[in-house]
Amino acid sequence: MEHAHLRLDRPSAPTAKLEAFLSAHTSETPFVAIDLDIVAERYHALAEALPQADVFYAVKANPARPILDLLVAAGSKFDVASRHEVQMVLDAGAEPSRISFGNTIKKARDIAWAYEQGVRLFAFDAEEELSKLTEHAPGATVFCRVLCDGSGADWPLSRKFGCEPEEAARLVVLAARAGHPVGVSFHVGSQQRDLTAWDRALAEVAYVADALHDGGHRLAVINVGGGFPGRYQEAMPPIAAYGQAISQALADRMPTYVDNPVLVIAEPGRYLVADAGVLQTEVVLVSRKSELDERRWVYLDCGKFGGLAETMDEAIRYRMRTPHDGGIDGPVTLAGPTCDSADVLYEKTDYRLPLALTSGDRVELLSCGAYTTTYSAVGFNGFAPLREHFV
Ligand SMILES: *Cc1c(COP(=O)(O)O)cnc(C)c1O
Repeated sequence: MEHAHLRLDRPSAPTAKLEAFLSAHTSETPFVAIDLDIVAERYHALAEALPQADVFYAVKANPARPILDLLVAAGSKFDVASRHEVQMVLDAGAEPSRISFGNTIKKARDIAWAYEQGVRLFAFDAEEELSKLTEHAPGATVFCRVLCDGSGADWPLSRKFGCEPEEAARLVVLAARAGHPVGVSFHVGSQQRDLTAWDRALAEVAYVADALHDGGHRLAVINVGGGFPGRYQEAMPPIAAYGQAISQALADRMPTYVDNPVLVIAEPGRYLVADAGVLQTEVVLVSRKSELDERRWVYLDCGKFGGLAETMDEAIRYRMRTPHDGGIDGPVTLAGPTCDSADVLYEKTDYRLPLALTSGDRVELLSCGAYTTTYSAVGFNGFAPLREHFV
């Protein structure tokens, strides 16, 4: 195992506050209950693990207003992907100087609008996008995203975002000549289990920074992205180990840059909110495809279109609890309630649930605070969007 030498974080049970809310059993399922104290705790834990970085919360992980309010008060900054996310963060009271428009794919009019609001930090990974920025966000700080292969990540973000380091080196020089302070960013892939991923990415950043330097310009931003983990089925390294690995990689790969006044950015999404949430569902049906089948099908009232999109390819494997835990169990295939055959959550992963499980039972999926509520369809098959409660 890669991290055999590391003490891994063991998944923990939900907090007493969450347990009290969940056991009240009064709310219609499915819903996610979020303990805001955990979000605050995670924000501070990451800030402590990576003290040289400014924390920009990746709003897409969970843009709920109570979460934004809490993080605004805590002093967080924000990574946003769209005009509407900019607006949500501004509405929560954050100054525009605390916003990074981190999507590399933006309409020119949305760039202009964000710039008008006071946003001065933008991502790009292509020459056309840089031209839009130079025209509609003159003088703003811009950072070029380099490709990462996403290896070691359970939810890789490879291919779609970023460009080759050689292209990035060319583009940052163009950007600097056009009057922008410039930086470099990457994302090693979400739920990244390999702590050396940052070192590999920072080697590419160093290559780009050297080219910029050789062109007579200085590096203004190093953006180390997200990838910090939630606690699903597999144990993961503790956040301090991520902080250490990234700090070491910065010192090894970029010694001439980190001493200069460079803005180091981290963009956690999942880490801040995943473990704060529990998704409560109800069993709609337990069935067997034939009488002698050992494997049961368990249909929950929340599926791929109800917020559990990250079960795609069974990438994110949530921990689950039932009222019958501890009893005799057997293998199950888990599926959602809609009439779409893609709405199967897990059939390859070895999930086992108690034989006593029956329709009407509540099944809870743990660490569901990230990438659930906003992935939920507005009403596919007439199922309501995933609700959210805050404790
Ligand atoms: C989604 C996203 C993040 C957050 O990633 P996590 O793995 O959830 O921490 C950070 N930066 C950018 C640009 C993103 O798109």
